[in-house]
Amino acid sequence: MESARDKKTMEIVEAEDLWLLPEVDTYGYICTGCKLDVFPASYQKSNLQRPHFRSARGKDHFEDCDIEGEKKTVSKGKKGSVRNELETSASLSPARLTLRNERTVVGSDLPPSTAQTTSVSKGRSTDGGEARPKGRRSANSIRPICRAFIDFPYDRDMSLEVPGIDDTTYQYAFKKLRGEGVETLPRSKIFYAELHWSKPEEEGDDLFINLSAGEWVKDPPKLVRPYKIRVCREGWSKAKRTVVRTEIDVLREEGIEAKKKNSKDRPWVFFIGEQDKDDPAIFNVTDHRLICGLLGTITYPKR
Ligand SMILES: [Zn+2]
Repeated sequence: MESARDKKTMEIVEAEDLWLLPEVDTYGYICTGCKLDVFPASYQKSNLQRPHFRSARGKDHFEDCDIEGEKKTVSKGKKGSVRNELETSASLSPARLTLRNERTVVGSDLPPSTAQTTSVSKGRSTDGGEARPKGRRSANSIRPICRAFIDFPYDRDMSLEVPGIDDTTYQYAFKKLRGEGVETLPRSKIFYAELHWSKPEEEGDDLFINLSAGEWVKDPPKLVRPYKIRVCREGWSKAKRTVVRTEIDVLREEGIEAKKKNSKDRPWVFFIGEQDKDDPAIFNVTDHRLICGLLGTITYPKR
């Protein structure tokens, strides 16, 4: 499983968030759809593998759990619209991005001011019996939103609110960076491009990630001026500084493996960043929650 619920806060956490923790609580998580214990796996940064959660062998999910249904929705979603299922799912297709104050422990869908003052005791307890409302929720990073963009190509007309982005559907909030020269892009979007094979470069506080888009020349095809992401990590904690680098390194490995297997999957980097005033080939990203890397096949069905 790509995500789980934190037992203490009852918030949905992405497995990649485990990279940020100084110590991972093996017994701290339950399924997003029921109260079954799930266990963090592959979360060591040295693994060069993507973390995930798994249930104990032989343990079944509780009767009302929709996790199997969600898996089916994801595979159905590649072939056609699954809008009705997405409307009632808490995690498959986030409705908005809400960057919560990172010290906040509760209040997944409350406005920031309320969330910050809400105490842990008001959180819904695991066995309190209070039914969780069904429906699309906020995401605390762009990753679940980008995953939905990949997974549900026929449902990109679903609404999406992202602070600073004027477009309000998945279809228009995302923009692929092209390979026809470095363009000046006036509208803020969730930009994406294939990761370049070169390794990211560290320069002091900055991490530079090369993308396989920008200016190409033909015969032989060569990328002469790639778009780059500059992750500006000034003032970040050590964990946050490392987490972006780890995800890109893992993505690169995943991309190499996919290529070996002749898979159609590609390593995609998604980010929200400002184009540099002096060099439009550079995008500046200032928050670790605004960049992610996912392996996948992005399709563009005719509408
Ligand atoms: Zn479950």
